[in-house]
Amino acid sequence: MAANDVIHPNIASRDATMRILKAFGLHASKRLGQNFLIDKGIVAGIVRAANVSDGDRVLEIGPGIGTLTQGLLEAGAYVTAVELDKKLPTVLSETLKGYERFTLVPGDILKVDIPALMGEGSFKVVANLPYYITTPILMTLLERRLPITDMVTMVQKEVADRMGARPGSKDYGSLSVAVQYYTEVETVLAVPPRSFLPAPEVDSAVVACRVRETPAVTVQDEKLFFRVVRAAFGQRRKTLSNALKGGGFPQEAVAEAFAKTGLDPKRRGETLSLAEFASLADALA
Ligand code: SAM
Repeated sequence: MAANDVIHPNIASRDATMRILKAFGLHASKRLGQNFLIDKGIVAGIVRAANVSDGDRVLEIGPGIGTLTQGLLEAGAYVTAVELDKKLPTVLSETLKGYERFTLVPGDILKVDIPALMGEGSFKVVANLPYYITTPILMTLLERRLPITDMVTMVQKEVADRMGARPGSKDYGSLSVAVQYYTEVETVLAVPPRSFLPAPEVDSAVVACRVRETPAVTVQDEKLFFRVVRAAFGQRRKTLSNALKGGGFPQEAVAEAFAKTGLDPKRRGETLSLAEFASLADALA
């Protein structure tokens, strides 16, 4: 049977996904984090959460066989999709045949030159992320200060909890601070394993990050701010004062910074708000 004959117009179903994989002799690669969406409602929910409308420019990470991509294209977006799996361009040229607003970029999202790909103007990031590199992808996109307005991603539920965690909770850590520093974050959908093929072992969630025009707090030196945050969470069991010393900050400077800010050196890093981290970093600057 020619591959062409087995393409279902709507990719987001178990049946269509199985037929496409079979037609191209493919098996989902665990190593590449391939769990294909098979739930139309979830695809629609992601597109809605990203407020995608006609003419929007979207960067998609890992289009797979084109399931979410099709939803984005149907909403009228121009989609540039970066896919690492060398077997998928052939599949995508069939499954997304006729969609003129689709551009495929073979490569690794952590290595491609995103500004060169996306050109001038702002864009949205929409993706069902490969879970093995969720954090590096999110951090790369945020830290590069690209002109992204919204970042709507499917992640493991546990990562979604960390992204939105508040000070004092067990999930609060460097990722929470970084995501909340750059964006307003909200979990918009809970997604069960049965929405994917193959079903992952974990629950998932769709998280919408609306990128702030200016970061949530003002700091003198952003690099130093994140160094302080990393040091504080690097040794969670230690008091903040000891964690900072362990993170390479000189004892005297640490003592002075606590005196200046009035923060209790015995507190643990996981209880500090973004504003408190900012004042501590500024005092250490
Ligand atoms: N978007 C599709 C969907 O929703 O069904 C597939 C999502 S699947 C969870 C993740 C996709 O990311 C796979 O297609 C995988 O090959 C791709 N991928 C994995 N690592 C990648 C990387 N470093 N750069 C770009 N794509 C990657």
